[in-house]
Amino acid sequence: MTQQLAGKSALVTGGSRGIGAAIVRRLAREGARVAFTYTSAKDQADALVAEVTAAGGRALAVQADSADPQAVQDAVDRTVEELGALDILVNNAGVAHVAPLEEFPLKEFDRMIAVNVRGVFTAIQAAAPHLGRGGRIITIGSINADRVPVPGTGVYSLTKAAVAGLSRGLARELGPRGITVNTIQPGPTETDMNPDSGPFAESMKAMLPVGHYAQPADIASAVAYLAGPEARFVTGASWDVDGGFAV
Ligand code: NDP
Repeated sequence: MTQQLAGKSALVTGGSRGIGAAIVRRLAREGARVAFTYTSAKDQADALVAEVTAAGGRALAVQADSADPQAVQDAVDRTVEELGALDILVNNAGVAHVAPLEEFPLKEFDRMIAVNVRGVFTAIQAAAPHLGRGGRIITIGSINADRVPVPGTGVYSLTKAAVAGLSRGLARELGPRGITVNTIQPGPTETDMNPDSGPFAESMKAMLPVGHYAQPADIASAVAYLAGPEARFVTGASWDVDGGFAV
């Protein structure tokens, strides 16, 4: 255990399950106090808090829909109140809807924009006033920002390309304040959203040079690096953690 984040405080959106839960565990293992949001998986959120606490860490679960700007602001405020500061924001919450162009419901289009794009922006807007020098903003995008092999995923890809652009722009804006802003672009990762035995799994594996899905902890490793002091010169990057999916 390196404890490279001892004394730091983090907020992870969408931390109750999947990649977000792995990020919560990893940041806590590195010594950070970690708040995380969720919408409905209360049992899993409570179990994760208990797990981190039992391991000697500090975790806080906050119910907050990333599509609701006031809920996002409240989650940031609670993090600062209860954990004492905010040094690291990880935008992980995301939703995906797959459908052909002609049948794509505008309701789902709006929901994906609200969670995957506007939710990232509002979380950064709320967090930025609290971030000091050494502050970190890390957004979980997707390799689908750059490579889109599955029909019906155009809108999802749109949202992930959008946050990569947002991170580059905000890296420019927040760099002078000593805050880095980066995007991690995972390839297929085994979660409820993308089970490695799901309908797309075999064709996905065929496109992966490594031949298998990532585990959520693989993505959390990249987050831990970007959150730590060694990554102070990395900003504006879109980092593919994708098993070679994009090559
Ligand atoms: P999961 O669906 O497995 O988990 C999503 C998490 O986000 C859950 O904790 C969920 O909590 C929470 N969440 C969902 N919607 C909201 C919301 N509106 N507000 C707050 N929290 C929310 O997804 P993954 O772990 O697979 O994905 C995490 C991120 O990684 C997403 O941004 C996704 O796009 C991205 N990604 C995933 C890949 C994959 O192959 N799995 C590949 C590339 C990128 P609750 O259940 O309580 O709603």
